[in-house]
Amino acid sequence: MKQVLLIATGGTIASKSSDEGLKPLITSDELLGYVPDAKKFCQAHTLQLMNIDSTNMQPAHWQKIAFAIQEHYSSYDGFVVCHGTDTMAYTAAALSYLIQDSQKPIVITGAQKPIDLEITDAKTNLMDSLLFACCDRAYGVTIVFDGKVIAGTRGKKERTKSYNAFSSINFPYIATIQDQHILFYLDDKKHMNQPVRFYSALNERVALLKLIPSMEAGVLEYLAQHYDAVIIESFGVGGLPSYKSGDFHKAIRHWIGSGKTVVMTTQVTNEGSNMSVYEVGRTIKQEFGLLEAYDMTLEATVTKLMWILGQTGDPQKIQEMFYRTINRDILYTASW
Ligand code: ASP
Repeated sequence: MKQVLLIATGGTIASKSSDEGLKPLITSDELLGYVPDAKKFCQAHTLQLMNIDSTNMQPAHWQKIAFAIQEHYSSYDGFVVCHGTDTMAYTAAALSYLIQDSQKPIVITGAQKPIDLEITDAKTNLMDSLLFACCDRAYGVTIVFDGKVIAGTRGKKERTKSYNAFSSINFPYIATIQDQHILFYLDDKKHMNQPVRFYSALNERVALLKLIPSMEAGVLEYLAQHYDAVIIESFGVGGLPSYKSGDFHKAIRHWIGSGKTVVMTTQVTNEGSNMSVYEVGRTIKQEFGLLEAYDMTLEATVTKLMWILGQTGDPQKIQEMFYRTINRDILYTASW
């Protein structure tokens, strides 16, 4: 019988209604009690790491989850992390960098409705996740939600209320699960030949700046005082405004000149960035050698930078690590 560790962290799946609104109160053992049929294919043990709304998840919590998996890695065949949906995509991406090349499946799941309701997606999501965590063909960090298996670096919450809350961005679904039957679209475990690696260091000093028409470049000067890296979410395939006598240009020169990291990405969810297309992007990218996220999700870009900057401050090494594909996070790079 497969051995699975169910790690509970909170979220709607574990929430009960209260006068203050939904809050996580259901324990890991109680969660497991709602899916008695899982006993037919696995022996699950539980670990309650925290019981919080995922709005409160921070890098220290990602490290705690990764450490718990590392501590118990040899004792289990697979892991299921129950988590709030709001920041699940960040946690799944962070775990993809903190735990690399895992032959064992590490599944993140949650629900749009609490598990104690009569009508809920929670039981199906939890059953599907346990099933996937027991599957010999499954590996690495994934999100299992609403019958879809999504690479841990490719998930994005795109719907606030519907059961199909998560999409796989710029990448196919790894598998679908229906009526407890797993249908693989990407069945490539045989290519895995590295031993699992665990990391713990993260540098939280990563900021995000979403451009709006009229934004002042002074925001970047302010951010430079507090952060080591900034991700600029620009418009379309990517560029920076050249209005106001090139203030953005000067701000980027200041960032790069002080050895800090600037990554360009796009506000458009699908198809990614390509700074080389327009003058507003190409000139600034060439001059400063800015990094760009291409087809990576924002969640993966943020957590990958935190992970990289936890290992190194050397711009050359940062660039090399940023463009190295980890858990399917980036396909499209400058070499095209
Ligand atoms: N606010 C909840 C959370 O992220 C939402 C959910 O789990 O669906 O913890």
